[in-house]
Amino acid sequence: METVEFVKEYFYFEILDKYGGPVLAVSAVLLFLAESYRRLRKLKSSRWKRIKRNLSIAFTAVMALRLSLIPALVYLALFAEDNNFGVFQWVQLPSWLVFVLGFVLLDYGNYLWHLLNHKINFLWRFHNVHHIDLDLDVTTALRFHFGEILLSIFFRGFMILLIGPPYWLVLTYEVIFETATLFHHSNWRIPYKIEKLISRIIVTPRMHGVHHSIVHRETNSNYSIIFNIWDRIHQSLRLNIPQDEINIGVPSYRDPGEQNIKNLLLMPFKKPRPWLLPDGKVPDRQYKGAKGNLEP
Ligand SMILES: [Zn+2]
Repeated sequence: METVEFVKEYFYFEILDKYGGPVLAVSAVLLFLAESYRRLRKLKSSRWKRIKRNLSIAFTAVMALRLSLIPALVYLALFAEDNNFGVFQWVQLPSWLVFVLGFVLLDYGNYLWHLLNHKINFLWRFHNVHHIDLDLDVTTALRFHFGEILLSIFFRGFMILLIGPPYWLVLTYEVIFETATLFHHSNWRIPYKIEKLISRIIVTPRMHGVHHSIVHRETNSNYSIIFNIWDRIHQSLRLNIPQDEINIGVPSYRDPGEQNIKNLLLMPFKKPRPWLLPDGKVPDRQYKGAKGNLEP
C-alpha cells in the first residue's frame, strides 16, 4: 500500500479532520481574541513567553492525541462493535438515544479520568505540568504533557470497551470535548449574569479558574469537562471565590524562570514538591458565600 493510501485508510477520520479541525482552530482564535479584549483575571507572568512555551508543549500533546489516542479510541470502538463489547452492543437503542446517552457517559468517564489524575500520585506527576502554569488562558487548554495523553489511552480505552459507543460518537464527542476544554480554560470575561446562567449546566471559565487555584481544596474541585453535573453529584463543586482573589498555579512552582520546555517535559520524572509556598506557608482562604454560588 502507498504511504498516502495507508494514512488515508488508517489515520484520516472525516468527522475530526474535515469538520473538527476547522471548528477547533476557529474556536481557539475566537477565544484568544475574546480573552485579549475582555480579560477575566489579571496576568501574572509574561504573556508572549507563556504562549510560546505553552504552544511548544501543546505541539507534543496534539501529536500524541492525533496519532495515538484518537486512532486507539476509534479502533477500540470498532473492535467493540465487531466483538459485541459494551452496553450499547447489548441493548439496541435508536441512534439519537445512543448519541445522547453515549455522549453523557463519555463525559462522565472523562470526569473520572480527571479525578484520578489528581488522586493518584503517578498520574499527578504528568497532570502537574498543566497545573503549574502561572496564568490560565486558551493556551493552557493545550499545554499537557504528552505522557498524560498516552496514559489516558488505557482509561479512556477501557471506558470505550465498557460503553461500546459507535466510532462516529467517539469522534464527535472528542471535537466537542476539545472545544469545551478551550472554552473553560480561556481567560474571557463573559458577562457575569450570562455565565451564571450557563454555569448551571456546563463548565465555564470562572468555574474552571477555581480548579487552577493554588489553594489545594480548590484545585481538588470542579473536575468536569463539558457538563458540570458530575461535580454536583460527587459534591466536588466549588464556585464561591471571586476571580480576582484566585492565584493560578501550584504553590511550590512559582518561579516563571524554571518553567522552560525542557523542565516541563522532564517534570513527571522528578518527585513533586509538597503543596507549600516558597515561604513554607500553606495557601488557604476564608469563604463567604455558599459553596455552589458563582462569584464574579
Ligand atoms: Zn486538573
